[in-house]
Formats: sequence, C-alpha cells, structure tokens
Amino acid sequence: MIAELISVGTEILLGNIVNTNANYLARKCAELGITNYYQVSVGDNEERLAAAINAALTRSDLLILTGGLGPTKDDLTKEVTAKVLNKKIIEDSHTKDRIKEYFTRKKGLEITENNWKQALIIEGSTVVDNPNGTAPGLIVETEDGKIIILLPGPPNELEPMFQEAIFPYLNKLQPGVLYSEMIKICGIGESKAETMIQDLITHQTNPTIAPYAKTGEVHLRITASASDMTEGKALVKPVVEELEKRFSTHIYTNKEEENLEDVVVNLLAKHKLTITTAESCTGGLLTGRLVNVPGASEVLDEGFITYSNEAKEKYLNVSHKTLESYGAVSRETAVEMARGACENIEDNKINDNSVACDTGINNSHSRKTSLAITGIAGPGGGSEEKPVGTVYIGCMVNGHVRVKKYQFKGNRQKVREYAVINGLDLLRT
Ligand code: ATP
Ligand code: MG
Repeated sequence: MIAELISVGTEILLGNIVNTNANYLARKCAELGITNYYQVSVGDNEERLAAAINAALTRSDLLILTGGLGPTKDDLTKEVTAKVLNKKIIEDSHTKDRIKEYFTRKKGLEITENNWKQALIIEGSTVVDNPNGTAPGLIVETEDGKIIILLPGPPNELEPMFQEAIFPYLNKLQPGVLYSEMIKICGIGESKAETMIQDLITHQTNPTIAPYAKTGEVHLRITASASDMTEGKALVKPVVEELEKRFSTHIYTNKEEENLEDVVVNLLAKHKLTITTAESCTGGLLTGRLVNVPGASEVLDEGFITYSNEAKEKYLNVSHKTLESYGAVSRETAVEMARGACENIEDNKINDNSVACDTGINNSHSRKTSLAITGIAGPGGGSEEKPVGTVYIGCMVNGHVRVKKYQFKGNRQKVREYAVINGLDLLRT
C-alpha cells in the first residue's frame, strides 16, 4: 500500500508552524510497513486542495489529510474531499451529540453556530471520535479501493486519534502482522549513529530499521512484517543482535516505555545507591529529570544548584584557588564539585550481603554517588580556549571521580539538554 500525506494549512506554507503532523504520520507509516512516496503541503485554498487530492488519487492508495476540519470558514478539507469524490455532505447525529457533550464538559465554553459544521460528514464515511476536540476524523473507502483519511490538525487531537483508532484500522488492512523492537542509544551523535548502520539501511527490505533522533539520543525501531509474531521475532532477532554488536554499551534500553533517567534511577536503586547532584550551567535540569521518575525519592539525596563561584565554594567546598587558577568550567572544578557533593552527606556503607568490588556503579562500596555539571551554555561567555558548549561532567562512584570533557553544539537550551543526557549516560556506564 502506498500512502500520501497531505498537510492542509496556509500557516504551514508561510512557515508559521512546523509540520510535525507529517513527521509523526511518516513515522507511523514506517512502523506499519506502509510505503510513503509523497508528502504534500497545501494552503487553505479550494482549488489547490482539490488538485492535490486529485493528483494523490492517481498515484497513491492511501491518502491521509490533516488540518482544516475545524469550525471556521477557512477549514475546507471535508467539503473539498467530498466534492472531489462526488459525495454528499450529511449531518451525523452521533457527532452532534458528542459536540453537545464536549461543550457540557467544558463548562464556560459556549457552542457557536459554526461548531455544528463539525457534525457534518462525508456520506458513507466512517466517523472516528475525537476525545480531545470537536472535529471527528473520517475514513472514506472509495469504490475503486482507495482509502482517504481526514484527521484534525492539532497534534494533541491527531496523535491519540491515530494511535487508538487509525493505527489498528490500517494494521488490519496489512496482511500478516507487524512485529517491532526498539533500541535506544545515547552518547553517540545522530549522524555518526546513522553512518554506523548506513550499510544495513541501504540494503534493508524486511525487517526495516527506522532511526529517530531525539536531543542527545537516537532511537532505532526495527520492524518486520511477518505472518505471525513468532516469525516476526525471528526476522528481527539477527538485526537486533547486529545492532547490539555495533552500538554495545551505547544502548541504554530496549524497552519502548523506558527513558534514560528511568534506567539511571533503576540502576541506582538496584544497587542501593543514592545520588546527589551538583549543577552549574544546567541549573536544576538534571535534578528535574531525575525527579520525573516515580521512585526517585529512593535514590535522590540532594540537589545543589551552584551557579556562582561563591556558591560552589560555599556549598560544595570547591577551593578558591581551583576556581581562580582553572576557572569554574574546568576539569579540576568538576572533580571538586562531584567530590564536594558526595562529602556533603554522611557516608553510609552498604550492608554486608551486597557485592563489593572495585569501581563502577555495579560494584560500589559506598552508597553515595554524585553527578556534577559545569559548562558554558552560551550565547555569551565563550573564549577561544573554552568555546560555548564546553562542558565538564564529573561523576563520583565508589569514592572515585571520573570527569569527561564535552564540546556540544547548539543553542543554550540544547547545550544544557545535551549536558544532562551525557551526564546521566556517564553515570550509567
Ligand atoms: P481546528 O479545529 O483547531 O481549526 P483543524 O483541523 O481545522 O483544527 P487547522 O485549522 O488546519 O486544523 O490547524 C489548527 C492548528 O493545528 C494549527 O494552528 C496548528 O497549531 C496545528 N496544526 C495544523 N496542522 C499541523 C501540522 N501539519 N503540523 C503541526 N501542527 C499542525
Ligand atoms: Mg482550523
């Protein structure tokens, strides 16, 4: 099945919004094993939208249109699709009831006359309820076997609707099953990760590897289409093994729902370790990520935000001399921050039945660990010797401090996010 994505909205053409819907749907098509050859963006204009739909019908089997289902005059998608398909627009009483209910729930919101426009559907279409808004989705199956799906523009309406209703609908149309596994990687850049698997991607047919880059991370989804789950698993297995060989310790999880901070918190909890954070340029971002994890209270002792040199001296016992001689962004300061954070807390030894060995989180004698981040997030403050993006991360485990220097690229926010992710990764490995 060949899919074509049509994003409707003048604001996309003007560059006022980023077309995240096309990105989301493209990834979902890949996950479903549906080939996507064309992505089209078109404004809120009747003629050009009709032309886009007509062109898509000549070359694709599945058309997914997003946007333009709302109540206002410029929302034309339904009307134009009906016209192209030569179908009538009729009122759907079920959707009308849902719109009434929606406004009763949202006390204070008034139904305006044009809201009823959203109860109009294309005759013969299947209505897909919208739990997060008033415009339903529509599925039209034409006499000549084409499928046209209309979805609302706002991503918070489109994505749950797609996941809950459209994904299973499309999955059923595909013969057999789709089996997929996930590998999440960090500590390695997106382009490097892609280069490392370029040969696999170039020659792939079934299963396929779909890389997806997040800030500081790369997620690889390996999907096989098969006649049943057992066959799917068998097809995916050698590819996963090959990826594990190539990325080895850079892989932090293969669980879909698990993220980096979950892995770190669980690892600390498993080894009965606690953590104290010492943050400069990340200003609490790291501690915030750790607190996101339910159960963080078991492992998180304290968090220091020591932005100024004075604070580093006062709370983390970083020596004045170190700050003066090497600067706040230096290997030496990172070491003292990590050490200071650990020493600020009374040392508890783990109970005797725990395994104890030399270094590393897996074999720590001391219950305490710390993670310290100091760097230049920019845009100001950089120098030739220490450009913006220079970050030192220190991590103390089992009485030993490990420091790594990083050179991140990007704006202030990105540098801070990269620092957090690489810090968590440093502690993990
Ligand atoms: P509404 O009922 O809000 O009018 P709609 O289905 O008519 O929804 P549009 O009017 O086209 O959709 O877009 C509404 C909003 O949804 C946009 O202002 C934008 O914030 C978001 N949106 C629309 N299309 C996209 C897209 N392709 N990618 C990301 N966001 C989008
Ligand atoms: Mg609209």
